[in-house]
Amino acid sequence: MFLRELTITIDHLKGAGPVSIRALASAGITSVGSLLCRYPRDWEDRSRAVPLRDFNAAPVCTVVRALAHTWFGSGGTKTLKVYVEDDKGTRASLVCFNRPFIEKVLKAGNYYRLWGAFQYRYGELQSSAFEVEALDGAGAPAPEQSAFGRILPVYALRPGLNQGMLRKFIHQALVQYAGPVEDELPRPIRDRDGLLPKAQALRAVHFPESLEELKKAVRTLVYEELFYLEVLVCRRAKARGSQGGGRSAPQFRPSPLQQNLLERLPFALTPGQAGAIGEINRDLDGQCQMARLLQGDVGSGKTLVSFLAALRAVEPGGQAALMAPTELLARQHAENAAALLEPLGVRPAFLTGNIRASGRAALLKSLAAGDIDLVVGTHALFSKDAAYKNLRLVVIDEQHRFGVVQRQAVMAKGERPDLLMMSATPIPRTLALTVFGDMDISVIPDMPSGRKPVKTHLARSSNEEKVYAFVRKELAAGKQAYFVYPLIEADEGKGLKDAESMAARLAEEVFPEYPAALIHSKRDEEEKRKIMERFRAGAVRILAATSVVEVGVDVPNATCMVIEHADRFGLSALHQLRGRVGRGKDQSYCFLVYSDSLTEDGKTRLKVMLENTDGFVIAEEDLKLRGPGQIAGTEQSGYFMLGIADPLRDSEMLAQARTDAFAMLERDPGLGLPEYQCVARVLDTAPPFGSMGL
Ligand code: ADP
Ligand code: MG
Repeated sequence: MFLRELTITIDHLKGAGPVSIRALASAGITSVGSLLCRYPRDWEDRSRAVPLRDFNAAPVCTVVRALAHTWFGSGGTKTLKVYVEDDKGTRASLVCFNRPFIEKVLKAGNYYRLWGAFQYRYGELQSSAFEVEALDGAGAPAPEQSAFGRILPVYALRPGLNQGMLRKFIHQALVQYAGPVEDELPRPIRDRDGLLPKAQALRAVHFPESLEELKKAVRTLVYEELFYLEVLVCRRAKARGSQGGGRSAPQFRPSPLQQNLLERLPFALTPGQAGAIGEINRDLDGQCQMARLLQGDVGSGKTLVSFLAALRAVEPGGQAALMAPTELLARQHAENAAALLEPLGVRPAFLTGNIRASGRAALLKSLAAGDIDLVVGTHALFSKDAAYKNLRLVVIDEQHRFGVVQRQAVMAKGERPDLLMMSATPIPRTLALTVFGDMDISVIPDMPSGRKPVKTHLARSSNEEKVYAFVRKELAAGKQAYFVYPLIEADEGKGLKDAESMAARLAEEVFPEYPAALIHSKRDEEEKRKIMERFRAGAVRILAATSVVEVGVDVPNATCMVIEHADRFGLSALHQLRGRVGRGKDQSYCFLVYSDSLTEDGKTRLKVMLENTDGFVIAEEDLKLRGPGQIAGTEQSGYFMLGIADPLRDSEMLAQARTDAFAMLERDPGLGLPEYQCVARVLDTAPPFGSMGL
C-alpha cells in the first residue's frame, strides 16, 4: 500500500474526539496518510544530556532536584519561582509565569527531568521556557510516553492543535498503519544514494532514533518529493513535445521577414538577443508547442526579440498577441510595433479596455477575420468578446505582473498557441528550475553595446539641493529626468513627499525653466498617453511619477532617475526604476534619496543597490532578505505545496532529481510510477506552464 492510499480517517485513532478531529481537519488533516505527511518543522534532541553549566551551547537537558519555592511580584500577579540543582552542582531558577500549578508539580527534594533554554539574569541562571517531567514515582510517565530520552519532533501548529496531541496521534498512526507502506522511489536510486525505505523514512522523520537516522530520513523524503516534482515537470515538457534544455544553442537564421526588420534597424542584435531568437525560431519551426521564458535584465532588449518572434509566427499566416501589464507599456509596445513592423507589411493593432465602443467593435471584427497580424494590449486581449482567427503566438511581457488565470485566459484564445513569457525580474537559477521547471529558458546575458552602467549615488534628504543642482546640469545639457515618489498625493501624518505636491514644487520652485509633468496610476489613460508622448518627444523634460514608470518605459534621452524616500521601495522596484535610465549612449545617474528615519532593512537595500548593477545578483539579495515566497512572480506558485523540500536549500538534490527523472522517463516513457501523496496535492491543483511551483 502506498502512503496516499492510507485514506482511513482520523477518527479511527484512539483518543480522537470531535474537538481534535475538527482541529486536525481545519489544518487539512483528515486521513492517516495526510497526518503522516505532516512532517515536523524542527526536532529537539533530548537524547543527549546537557548539564545546566552548558546552557550556552545548547538547550539544557538534564535531571535536577527541586530545592525551594518562592513567590515574587505583588497582589494578584504573584509569580512562582522554583530553585533547582543538577548533579554537577549547578543551580538555576525556573520562573513560572502564568504557571502557578507548578508549585504542586515540583516538590522540593524530588528529582525531575528538565528541558529548557537558560540565560543569566539578575545574577542567576534562569529559564521561563522549560518543560519538566517526574523522573520516577507516581507522576512519572511510562518510558514510551516520555518526552525525554529521545529526539522529539516539533510540528507547525494551527489553532486547536498542540505538540502533545500531534505527537500522540502521529505515533499511534505510525505504529498501527505505517508498517506496510510501500516504497515509492525506484530501487536503483535508493541504493545509489543510500536512502531509506519509505516506511522507515516516515517513522524516522517523526521519531528518529539518532541524528544520523533523522538526516537520512529527511534526505529520503526531500529527494522523493523533488523526484516526483520533476517527473511531473518532465511529463509536461514531453506532452508539449519539448526536447528539454541542454541542447546546444542553434545558429540564428533569420526568416525573410525577420531579415527585413534587422536590415532596417540602426544597430545589430546583441549575441544574447541572437541566441534567444535562435532558440525561439527552433521552437516555432519545430513540432513542439513552445513554452519559453525569456529572462533578460532591464534594458537588455527583450521587446525586439518578441517582435522578431511575432514576425516568425505571422509569416506563415498566423496571429500573434503581445500582452503587457499596464496600458502605458502596452501603448509603448504598440507604437514601436507600428513604427517597426508596418513598413514590413505586418498589420499591428492596439487593444485595451479603454478604446471607444465603435472603434473597439471594428477592431475586434478585424481580429476575428484575421485582418490583424499582431495585436498588442493589456488584459483586454482575452476579454470575452475578443476572438482570434488563428492565434499562433502569445507573448507576455513582465509576466510576473499577471496571475495564473490571466495567462491561462489569453492562451485559451488559440489552439495550443506557442508561449513566450518575458521577465525582467531575474529569478535565480535554482528557483527558476522549480518555478518554471516545465518551461524552456532563454537568457539574454548581455546589454546592447555602448551602454554605460548607471552611476548610483545615495543622498540624505537634507542634501536634496545637491541632487537638484546635479540634475539641473543634465537638463541644461538637453537631457531629461524622472523623479519618483512613494505616494500619489499628500497624506498627512506620513511625512512623506508625494508625486502631486512635488510635481508642483519641481515645476514652480526648483526647475521653473523646464517643463515638468505628473504621471501616476490614478490619472486618466488619455492624459497619461499625452504626457508620455510629450516626455518621449522631449517636450516635457521632468517627469514626476510614482512607480508606474517602473515597468518597461523606454525613453533613452532620460539620464537622471531621482527616487525620493528610496528606502521605502523594495529591491526589485528599485532595480526596475533604475533600469529606466542608462538606455542611451550617454552616462546616466540614479539618486537614491533616503529619509532620516532609515530602517536597518532600508539601509541594507540601498547598500545592495549601490554595490550592484546585475539584476540577478540583486534578485539573490532580495531572496535572502525576503525569502523565496516573496519573489515577484512566485507567490502564487505551488512552491509552498512542497512538504519538506526547499528548492533553494536543496538545490543540489533538485538538480539530481531532475536529471534522474528526465533520464528515467527517457528510457521508459510509460514509467508506472506510483503517484505520491504530497505531490498529489500539487497534481490536483497544478496550474499551467511556469506557474506551478514546478
Ligand atoms: P527590456 O529588455 O528592458 O524590455 P527594451 O526592449 O525596452 O528592454 O530595450 C531597451 C532599449 O534598447 C530600447 O530603446 C531598444 O530600442 C534598445 N535596443 C534593443 N536592442 C538593441 C541592440 N541590439 N542595440 C542597441 N539598442 C538596442
Ligand atoms: Mg521590457
